[in-house]
Amino acid sequence: MAEEKEIKLNKIKEECKNCYKCELGKTRKNIVFSDGNPNAKILLIGEAPGADEDATGTPFVGRAGKLLTKLIEECGFSRKDDFYICNTVKCRPPENRVPTDEEKSLCENYLLEQIKTVNPKVIVLCGATSAKSFLGNKIKISEIRGKWYKLFDNIDTTVIFHPSYLLRNHSELEGSPRWLTKQDIYKIKEISEQ
Ligand code: SF4
Repeated sequence: MAEEKEIKLNKIKEECKNCYKCELGKTRKNIVFSDGNPNAKILLIGEAPGADEDATGTPFVGRAGKLLTKLIEECGFSRKDDFYICNTVKCRPPENRVPTDEEKSLCENYLLEQIKTVNPKVIVLCGATSAKSFLGNKIKISEIRGKWYKLFDNIDTTVIFHPSYLLRNHSELEGSPRWLTKQDIYKIKEISEQ
């Protein structure tokens, strides 16, 4: 089963490597497909690769990614073992701009195939762009973070702040965005272990 998953995911990854469906394919250095464990119970979807991710081909490896890893580990998780991590688009938008709706929609099938293959217990939409992709452009991240939905064929899905926002908010005091994010991660842990 694990081997079957790996074969399927590698096939999707190869398709992405040969994909130029949207403009982002023209300027990428590498496609940024995934990181973590394909057998994990939790699948986290971020926005889009940045410069560090484009250079390495791995999601969430820059400053924001390091902060995400730190918070995950402080809550008792292993990023490597407990999460499968990917993004709404596989190629870096120039100047780190937000991917357009058209780019997200052209790339969506790869993401949906990843979700179907990994078949997680919990999905985490990380940041406003990721959340808007699935909950509509009108949502406000401050109003929906920490809430739970049934999406992607009835999978428990929640929303957390993007770590790049947390980089600008250093406080860890009760009620601060970092504190709230840690409460969200504890809840994700609880739900994933049920
Ligand atoms: S972002 Fe997605 S759709 Fe656009 S070129 Fe890259 S893999 Fe293809």
